[in-house]
Amino acid sequence: MKPETLAIHSGNLYESSTKDVTPPINLSTTFFRDEDGGYSGGHMYSRVSNPNRSALEQVLTNLEKGADACAFSSGNTAGMSLFQALAPGSHIIAADDMYWGFKKQLQSIFADTLTIDFIDLTDIDRISGYIKENTVMIWVETPSNPLLKITDLVAISAITKKHNLILACDSTFASPCLQNPISLGADIVMHSSTKYIGGHSDVLGGALITAKKSAFWEKVRNIQQIGGAVPSPFDCFLLLRSIKTLPYRMRGHCENGMALAQYLEQHPKVEAVFYPGLPAHAQHEIARQQMTGFGGMLSILVKGGADEARRVVNTVKLFAQATSLGGVESLIEHRASVEGPDTKTPQNLIRISVGLEHIDDLIADFNQALA
Ligand SMILES: *Cc1c(COP(=O)(O)O)cnc(C)c1O
Repeated sequence: MKPETLAIHSGNLYESSTKDVTPPINLSTTFFRDEDGGYSGGHMYSRVSNPNRSALEQVLTNLEKGADACAFSSGNTAGMSLFQALAPGSHIIAADDMYWGFKKQLQSIFADTLTIDFIDLTDIDRISGYIKENTVMIWVETPSNPLLKITDLVAISAITKKHNLILACDSTFASPCLQNPISLGADIVMHSSTKYIGGHSDVLGGALITAKKSAFWEKVRNIQQIGGAVPSPFDCFLLLRSIKTLPYRMRGHCENGMALAQYLEQHPKVEAVFYPGLPAHAQHEIARQQMTGFGGMLSILVKGGADEARRVVNTVKLFAQATSLGGVESLIEHRASVEGPDTKTPQNLIRISVGLEHIDDLIADFNQALA
């Protein structure tokens, strides 16, 4: 079935005596045991599994064309659980512009157990040179933050397959509707469900989806169940509700993202636009091959430096000055001041999460702010 249909139907695992069309929120933390000691209802204790979470994991598995999924209480705990599943002493290769929260985890929480090389993963030919005897994983994030760099998943998966490494992909900016990394050779897909999957800036969540069940995946599942960084039944209910409209929301984000990028690209006060849908984007061809749409995230460099960038984010009216992304409402931020003093992000960079307002209103707002 197609994503629109899967999004609406594949999470409805629930059968009830009251014939609910929409699965209820199941708040029970514990479940009846059968006389023979079994759990014929399929659940024992809600840290281990819960009906709402199982439904969420089922939909995510289907949308990402994987074999199984683990839902977590945040994107950060999803990523952390994967790092925890790696043997101490392992080496990881990750992008130099990896999501800063994961970079921080690796450099602090995992500083004594894992070693990492942060490199430019768009330079495919140089990657093999960083693989060592203890390298176990390449972590890709595409599109990346905040420069919207695109990493060629098919090309990297040829390298990870040859060297028997895990290819993990943070696909948050694409959502499960615009790119399916497993179909392009990835072993594990990661999402911050807080972003497009949730889509309404009102629920925190994360997920890992695996291409195949394996001993390594069992370790990840074990960390989820024993570690306990699980989403609540209500979080799962909200995410399931959101996912039903995800394919249509993504169409709107792509349409608005492209139109705003094209408008900004020709504006005399804008120095550069980073949006993978523009032919001028450095990896536009790769984006066209591995994505079915280019999403609602873009960054721009404005003429006039940090002061002008701050003035613009303070002058727009419809774009809320706030971090995060993927919600129905448009957000804007001066990224360098979010990332702090040691950031490599250009001081005149503005990151925009284009929402689902009417594009004419969004363009009119930028028009007055840049004037
Ligand atoms: C937000 C985000 C995360 C972290 O997710 P949380 O839900 O905030 O914990 C990871 N990767 C990317 C690309 C993100 O945008």
